[in-house]
Amino acid sequence: MSRFSSERLNKIEAYTPGEQPRDKSYIKLNTNESPYPPSEGVIRAINQKAVEDLRLYSDPTAKELRSALAELYGVGEKNVFLSNGSDDILNFAFMAYGAAGACFADITYGFYQVFAELYGIEAEIIPLSEDFTLDYRDYLGKDKLIVIANPNAPTGKTIPLWQIEEILGANPDTVVVIDEAYVDFGGESAVGLTERYQNLLCVGTFSKSRSMAGARLGFAIADEALIADLEKIKYSTNPYNINRLTQLAGAAAVRDNGYYMDNCKKIIKNRDYTIAELKALGFEVIDSKANFIFAKTDKCGGEELYLALKERGVLVRHFEKPRIKDYNRITIGSREEMEAFISAVREIVGEI
Ligand code: PMP
Repeated sequence: MSRFSSERLNKIEAYTPGEQPRDKSYIKLNTNESPYPPSEGVIRAINQKAVEDLRLYSDPTAKELRSALAELYGVGEKNVFLSNGSDDILNFAFMAYGAAGACFADITYGFYQVFAELYGIEAEIIPLSEDFTLDYRDYLGKDKLIVIANPNAPTGKTIPLWQIEEILGANPDTVVVIDEAYVDFGGESAVGLTERYQNLLCVGTFSKSRSMAGARLGFAIADEALIADLEKIKYSTNPYNINRLTQLAGAAAVRDNGYYMDNCKKIIKNRDYTIAELKALGFEVIDSKANFIFAKTDKCGGEELYLALKERGVLVRHFEKPRIKDYNRITIGSREEMEAFISAVREIVGEI
């Protein structure tokens, strides 16, 4: 750090994104991307004209994309916010609603802690139970921002909508963020509750189920007043927050929604296959509703398995955190990728 940086910035432990190595080609099961390409409609949308138009600023209201998403989710256009990846929206939520503090689980998406530190927000870390279940009763009557990933990362576990409703009802004066990055792989979306609960901010992304991680497109659905808050931050930081190509690609992706939902079904099948194979090899696998699974074996440590897989050209994600260091998070890819992963695992555990 430079000698000009603030004490707070110096102290922050920044988020570490999953590896994106360039040294050789890996089977990449470490950052929860989709193994399937964007739809034909998306590929057609990024044409010569779209590229030529890059000389012009993008539409700050992202009108076409916004109305397509509003229609898809059955909400009004004023209930939709769009941003440069859902991380951006989570950032805005901490900025806007974190003044009285924030609470989230001990094992969850690591960025929540980083945002809290960035804004000097006091974070209450609420431990998940022994089997990584979130107990909704721990979140009743909080006087601070509540952030819950549902499905959770990196466990893939979900909580039912009725429990989210209990949390919303018991915290009418604080914002509850439900991070639904992985909801399309078998979870239940809370978007339908936004009409009734003014304190609910549902956050989604095009990075996972819609094969657009590299385009950076996230969205939030909420009561108009919450969306207006986020718009205000956007217009106070970066009004052109979604570039032209991403707006076109996003609108085309919404039109091709069926293609993406079919891909989700394939991933769910590949997930079932991978879980069954890992269990047959003696692994403990947490029941996941996401496009990844969280697994461990007593045959070797989490890091050992991660390194042995990397040596065989398969990348998974290992977190060096006491409660979860025995586990690896494995993104569900195509059937071929998962077969290659399983045979690498078989080789590794066979050699021990
Ligand atoms: N929420 C969760 C739970 C995630 O795992 C991720 C992906 N790292 C994100 C949000 C952010 O995704 P993006 O910024 O690509 O939309």
